[in-house]
Amino acid sequence: MKKIIIIGSGIGGLALAIRLQSRGFNVTVLEKNERVGGHAYPLEKAGYHFDMGPSLITAPDILQDLFACQKRNLFEEVEMVKLDPFYRIFYHDKTFLDYSDDREKMKSQLRAFYPGDADQYDRFLKDSEKIYNVVIAQGMGKQPFMTIPSMLEFFPKAIQLNALRSTYGFAKKYFRDERSRFAFSFHPLFIGGNPFRAPAVYEMIPYLEKEGGVWYSKGGMYSLIEALERLFIDAGGGIHTSEPAEKIVVQNGKAIGVQTKNGFYKSDAVVSNADFIHSYRDLIEAKQRKKWSNRRLNRLHYSMSAFILYLGVKKKFPQLLHHTLVLSSRYQELITDIFDRHVLPDDFSMYLHMPSKTDPSMAPAGCSSLYVLVPVTHLKAGVDWTQQAKPYADRILRYLEHDFGLQGLQENLEVKEIFTPLDFAGKNNSTYGSAWGVEPRLTQTAYLRPHNKSEDIDNFYLVGASTHPGAGLPGCLLTAETTESVMVKDLA
Ligand SMILES: Cc1cc2nc3c(=O)[nH]c(=O)nc-3n(C[C@H](O)[C@H](O)[C@H](O)COP(=O)(O)OP(=O)(O)OC[C@H]3O[C@@H](n4cnc5c(N)ncnc54)[C@H](O)[C@@H]3O)c2cc1C
Repeated sequence: MKKIIIIGSGIGGLALAIRLQSRGFNVTVLEKNERVGGHAYPLEKAGYHFDMGPSLITAPDILQDLFACQKRNLFEEVEMVKLDPFYRIFYHDKTFLDYSDDREKMKSQLRAFYPGDADQYDRFLKDSEKIYNVVIAQGMGKQPFMTIPSMLEFFPKAIQLNALRSTYGFAKKYFRDERSRFAFSFHPLFIGGNPFRAPAVYEMIPYLEKEGGVWYSKGGMYSLIEALERLFIDAGGGIHTSEPAEKIVVQNGKAIGVQTKNGFYKSDAVVSNADFIHSYRDLIEAKQRKKWSNRRLNRLHYSMSAFILYLGVKKKFPQLLHHTLVLSSRYQELITDIFDRHVLPDDFSMYLHMPSKTDPSMAPAGCSSLYVLVPVTHLKAGVDWTQQAKPYADRILRYLEHDFGLQGLQENLEVKEIFTPLDFAGKNNSTYGSAWGVEPRLTQTAYLRPHNKSEDIDNFYLVGASTHPGAGLPGCLLTAETTESVMVKDLA
């Protein structure tokens, strides 16, 4: 049995571990934190339960494929609840859109924004289905893209589908009202992308949502992570938590194992699911790296970070759904502040997650467990979060209570935990405190994204948000399939 060490137990790391263990490899996962999950981590305080990171489950089919590796069924292992609507988008003018897979309900809302937008909805869905077919159904999303010819195959297809323009540019072709344009272009933000430059290949996300739905796993996202952990352990895999990798040991250009403070884990192959720059810069000696020199690593564009409040509130807020977006009046300008100008603006758009709406076990009776995520610039900007965190949190709370209308929010707070870009950096070794890793922009997509197999070191592979195809739960599950296919070919 060939031995494989996986550094990191994020969704991509766990998925790959299950896949390889199911194929008969002997897999051990080394995780820095006390528990597995990476960004998908739990927090419990005073009877309130939170998922600290991902909260929307999409593409259950891709997840089901993973359970099928161990002949298990996702829907038997985890109590899955389909959400309807998927989310509510509150615009700055207090109008809102309940986003769902119900074509007629969507159209009637779009009609109220601008009559022609409702007529364009079918055409938009048809064209995003074509992108979905290429990326998901025909498997481009899990093709390794290791060579230039593979890229040459991708470009003509993408051009034909108009998928190289930005998602905003794509949506603008169909919709006149800015609210509709937002609703059908913002999805790259879910995976750390800027809608004004992330290529429209990511327009497959709205279609993927429409086809597969948006789901919640009872007990929170962490119940799904625990199911994945069980799947791997039952298959015979090993996990060592609180065991950070200190060095990937390379001999004659080949990865031969991983050094931690507790010893040396010898292996036939090493995979890193940890942050991409951390994996190369901090774990592999510079002399072993030809392509991924520190200079080249520094040139990578990293996605934004997030400022998150985990709130336990002795109150319910009927205007909020399980998932709610609350938007500023600025779209492109705000995105530019976050991605390019690297400033902390006075206004904010935010995402609110309130699992207690669907699942009363997430908060004490009559109370709400609520997380508020504000996308913010990453740490390269130089915002001093040790000074800014408290006033920024206060501003968000005041805005939610007085401007947005969550009356009594502040006086009913029982729990208030703050998570800043510094925490992303400290907890997960996320470079620049970025919450999503390498930014999904055209020059960092497919062949141009970090590959699933190292170009510098034999028997060293990568998996997770910064590799192809990218971040998000479905994205990371597909990175695991991509890395698996390359490894199986190499190690057979
Ligand atoms: C706030 C937030 C909300 C999100 N919401 C959604 C959502 O609703 N739906 C969705 O689909 N996606 C969402 N995403 C994206 C999704 O969560 C991520 O893309 C995904 O979880 C990343 O998984 P990964 O496999 O890249 O590993 P990561 O989660 O990045 O985990 C990497 C692991 O490596 C470990 N590690 C790092 N260095 C070392 C070391 N030296 N030794 C050992 N271990 C190490 C870390 O501790 C960590 O556990 C969200 C992300 C964030 C941050």
